[in-house]
Amino acid sequence: MPNKLEAVLGMARGCERCYVMPMIKVYKDICKGCELCNYACPMHILGMSKELNTKGYFYAIMVDPGRCIGCAMCALTCPDVAIEVGVLGTRYALYEY
Ligand code: SF4
Ligand code: SF4
Repeated sequence: MPNKLEAVLGMARGCERCYVMPMIKVYKDICKGCELCNYACPMHILGMSKELNTKGYFYAIMVDPGRCIGCAMCALTCPDVAIEVGVLGTRYALYEY
C-alpha cells in the first residue's frame, strides 16, 4: 500500500504503482493495433503510438491520463487482453471481471 505522501503524489501523477487515480496500462507488445479501444473509450483519451512494437504494430497509448474515469471499456473491448485498468488502489485485468 502506498503511504499518504505516495498516494498524494500518485493522484497528481497518475502513478502506475499507486493506482490512486483511475488509469490504464497497455501491454504494448501484446497489442495488435486494431484501435478498438480507441473507439470504445467514452472520454476519447486513447491514441496510437508513432513507433512499432515488437510485433510490428502501432500500439495503443494513453493520451490524456488525467481524464480517465476508470470505466474499463477499453480493457473489456480489447480482444487481446492487452489493457489493464487500475482504480482506487485495485488493479483489474480482464480475467478478473
Ligand atoms: S478506463 Fe475508460 S476512460 Fe479510461 S482509458 Fe479506458 S475506456 Fe477510456
Ligand atoms: S483493443 Fe487491444 S489490441 Fe486493439 S489497439 Fe487497443 S490495446 Fe491494442
